[in-house]
Amino acid sequence: MKKERIVRSIAELRALVRSTGLRSTGPRVAVLQRLQQAITPMSHAEIAEALEPAGLDRATLYRNLIDLTDVGLLSRTDHGDHVWRFELRDNAHDQAEQHPHFTCIDCGEVECLPDTSIEVSAPDRTPRAIRNHHFEVQITGLCDRCAA
Ligand SMILES: [Zn+2]
Ligand SMILES: [Zn+2]
Repeated sequence: MKKERIVRSIAELRALVRSTGLRSTGPRVAVLQRLQQAITPMSHAEIAEALEPAGLDRATLYRNLIDLTDVGLLSRTDHGDHVWRFELRDNAHDQAEQHPHFTCIDCGEVECLPDTSIEVSAPDRTPRAIRNHHFEVQITGLCDRCAA
């Protein structure tokens, strides 16, 4: 049930960053390149560790994660442990298309659920964010390993 990843070349990633109005810098492209290979959302610490060989310090990395999130290329979610995790948006230009996540209540592992369909009906009384599809779906339970 893994999502089929669109793997973009460096040139395509640079163009993607520029299309948002941001300058396409080395750190930004490195972050996108790393995240497009990830199958689960990654925390700042995990990305920092992965990009350390590239000489990216944590503060620069954090600023770039926030910049990329602000322009809508990344999504940032808190899965209940107060740690922000980042991942590429499924479709950088359609914020309604973000997939749900599963968090194990025992080990805390976070999984992307790209093919899961969750119907959220939104009558007039529900908050505008729901009617406009600006929300995240997070499902919790026991992962296969912890349930075994
Ligand atoms: Zn678990
Ligand atoms: Zn995800």
